Amino acid sequence: MLKVGITGGIGSGKTTICKVFETLGIPVFYADAVAKQLMITDLILVEGVKEAFGAASYSSNGVLNNQHIANIVFNNKVELEKLNSLVHPAVFRAFDTWEKEMSSAVPYTLKEAALLFESGSYKMCDKNILVTAPLNVKLARVMERDGVTAAQVQARMDKQFTDEQKAKMADYFIDNTEKSSVILQVLDLHQQFLQL
Ligand code: ATP
Repeated sequence: MLKVGITGGIGSGKTTICKVFETLGIPVFYADAVAKQLMITDLILVEGVKEAFGAASYSSNGVLNNQHIANIVFNNKVELEKLNSLVHPAVFRAFDTWEKEMSSAVPYTLKEAALLFESGSYKMCDKNILVTAPLNVKLARVMERDGVTAAQVQARMDKQFTDEQKAKMADYFIDNTEKSSVILQVLDLHQQFLQL
């Protein structure tokens, strides 16, 4: 089955766009949400995290100590890469299982991931979409959605590839500056994917 990856910078609106694809009956794998879940439920991952970051990563009843891990990986590239090298393969495994469980009646699946290109997981997809919006629009959306400052959004953006870097790896683009043109762009891509 055709696998389509979809990503975009923070606040670009990739989740919002995925909801539009869902209304067309396309199943979406939300990799970031799945990753959070796997941090608690995937035994290989849990063991790996404990080994890498210590037993304090979880409480005695298995609750993830997010703060402990955040303190270690915050502004520490080596430790962040260590965490990613544990999480990303777990998400790849979960995606593989999820995708195989999909009915053959589904024409294609979508994998939504903030770090689709950075993690290399775009290579597991047949085609990849980049959702774009101007920087000031993305900043304003995230400030409003999360109640954070522009500097806090910028710090999160700095951890991701720029749109210019991502554009080199993308096959398709959705411009999500305005709500009004989104539906038509999604329908157009949907038709193209049905024909692939
Ligand atoms: P993140 O990487 O932080 O998860 P995202 O790319 O998934 O962000 P969304 O959560 O879909 O982005 O959108 C960010 C915010 O912008 C949300 O509050 C959403 O409702 C709003 N938004 C998305 N698209 C539009 C649009 N075209 N017009 C106005 N608001 C939008």
